[in-house]
Amino acid sequence: MKELYNSFNSFLKKKFNNQKVKKIPINAGFPCPNKNGKISRKGCIFCDTYGSGPIKTFELPVAEQINRFIGNRKDFKYIAYYQAHTNTNAPVEELRKKYEIIFDFKEIVGLFIGTRPDSIADEVYPLLEELNGKTYLTVELGLQSIHAKSHELLNRNHTYSQFLETYEKLKNRHIDVVVHLIVGIPGESPADMLETIKEMNRLKPSGIKFHLMHVLKHTPLFDMYEKGEIKLMDKDEYVEVMIHLLEHLDPAIVIHRLTGERDKEIFHAPLWALNKHDVIHSIRSRMKELNSFQGKYFVNNSSQGE
Ligand code: SF4
Repeated sequence: MKELYNSFNSFLKKKFNNQKVKKIPINAGFPCPNKNGKISRKGCIFCDTYGSGPIKTFELPVAEQINRFIGNRKDFKYIAYYQAHTNTNAPVEELRKKYEIIFDFKEIVGLFIGTRPDSIADEVYPLLEELNGKTYLTVELGLQSIHAKSHELLNRNHTYSQFLETYEKLKNRHIDVVVHLIVGIPGESPADMLETIKEMNRLKPSGIKFHLMHVLKHTPLFDMYEKGEIKLMDKDEYVEVMIHLLEHLDPAIVIHRLTGERDKEIFHAPLWALNKHDVIHSIRSRMKELNSFQGKYFVNNSSQGE
């Protein structure tokens, strides 16, 4: 049966011969320049104090975080995901030291590095290239949208041109890139979101992680939401928009995530998003009803259908 979308799970199964692979979220202690004052002290309006990383193990040394996650589950393979804050924001030798910890764990088969598009210094690329030759490396770049008005609202403090420059440098070194996008940014219409998707079709990253715009506690977005300054999508709206975007997306691009996902302790709204399985189930059921699939309206040139 044709897959509804090109899921990360199916991709991993093919890549690792059906071996079960899990991602280990890691906080390696690299700071975010959008929070530590190098660029800004405010951070992105949606960002929590843990910088999207693990909230229970964040203070432990990296090796201990890995050990705790793996525990007795030695039959799985793992991808180390340097997730919290900006994981290329340190001198190159410090980066090397922390990345190379993964080679002490034979169960780890890949390294994913999450970072900002403006935070990979020129001297870091040779290190990334070297690691790419030793393991399955992916750099996850936070973009959220191609639109400057959205970057401004979110207080991203980088531009789309900076993203393009970094993206090209990584692609020229044959390093896989996964792009993070937010669906439902206040002020963005479905047409705006589709423009971002069309740019992804042009660039062809290895994967996309879709995040639902959601509100976490102790964030500037929380205050804006409580004051009624922004509106979030309801579940039906999200399902319809996600399907529309998937239908226009190149089917070769792997979907790493279809919705937002964060620990209950710090989550605020919308509450329906806490039930991730239900959101995914709703998207899948509706796609079946509509005979929909990823790439339904994708045309492999600059002009696209519908
Ligand atoms: S989302 Fe990323 S770039 Fe934005 S403040 Fe948080 S860690 Fe920094």
